[in-house]
Amino acid sequence: MTYKAEYIWIDGTRPTAKLRSKTKILADGAELPVWGFDGSSTSQAEGRSSDCVLRPVFSCPDPIRGGDDVLVLCEVLGTDMEPHVTNTRAALRETAERFAAQEPVFGIEQEYTFFRGNRPLGFPENGFPAPQGGYYCGVGADEIFGREIVEAHMDRCLRAGLGISGINAEVMPGQWEFQVGPLSPLEVSDHLWTARWLLQRTAEEFGITATLAPKPAEGDWNGAGAHTNFSTRAMREGYDPIITACKALGDGDKPELHVQNYGIGIESRLTGLHETAPWNEFSYGVSDRGASVRIPWQVEAEKKGYIEDRRPNANVDPYVVTRLIVDTCCTALDKAGQV
Ligand code: ADP
Ligand code: MN
Ligand code: MN
Ligand code: MN
Repeated sequence: MTYKAEYIWIDGTRPTAKLRSKTKILADGAELPVWGFDGSSTSQAEGRSSDCVLRPVFSCPDPIRGGDDVLVLCEVLGTDMEPHVTNTRAALRETAERFAAQEPVFGIEQEYTFFRGNRPLGFPENGFPAPQGGYYCGVGADEIFGREIVEAHMDRCLRAGLGISGINAEVMPGQWEFQVGPLSPLEVSDHLWTARWLLQRTAEEFGITATLAPKPAEGDWNGAGAHTNFSTRAMREGYDPIITACKALGDGDKPELHVQNYGIGIESRLTGLHETAPWNEFSYGVSDRGASVRIPWQVEAEKKGYIEDRRPNANVDPYVVTRLIVDTCCTALDKAGQV
């Protein structure tokens, strides 16, 4: 007997990478082997030396095919077995290991927008829908578009054993969010990439695409972000480390370094309007959804907890955002002796 393994990887498309996948039939009980693909078809190699290598790094039950079938998230390597230039997970592995003793964890809020053809789901063929106001966490056919896809996606994430922690309808019609975490840096990123694949795979069955574009509709419509919630053990136990982490994110050239790596098109979304801070001005504050980094009100009240970096775009690479936050904050916490 056999089982099916869906090998999933992140390609070389720029400015924003796409997910790719293909199926391998394996004998029952066989381990997941290293595999390969044609990198010249994914912007990862030249035609004359086109082979790239897939190394399985995370697998879970395939909630679509069921049975013993699995999803297999992979790192891309060259034939020399070194990380490919598009492999951002390799750098996170090193950073996560270096600061593992601080026990960093993340919860990422993935916003996205359904499109049918060239229009967000819920936008009429001509003109625009009613302005924003009733869509966020709304109910009813005049407010909500695509719930059947969202429910199917959530169930599939749960059946796959991914750390999805909730969903909600967002501020613009056809716009939704799911949250993954809290989990360690590598886990939250692997689960989020796998959940993104499941989202697109599920929407496909409905003839709908799910885009991570940061500003899917121009004008007075909210953009799509990936708020990144972060804590270390010290932050979960006290308030001084919370402030140290906020200040570290605002220190020197850090704001520029972070914003430049928080997803393509970030200037179009972080305008200072629509619950964002301007991309070129760093700020942090309690309960402030107009700040770059928010300290939730319960965290200030209880004097411990986590912080929310509101800047990352929906199209951010979780391997990159978690690496930068761990590196910046854990280095500062280390220096301050708050570990
Ligand atoms: P909001 O929409 O109010 O910004 P959400 O409820 O959508 O908040 O998301 C909050 C996220 O914070 C969740 O993904 C949750 O997993 C995460 N979170 C909660 N506690 C912690 C913590 N101690 N460290 C890191 N992330 C956390
Ligand atoms: Mn949220
Ligand atoms: Mn949101
Ligand atoms: Mn948020």
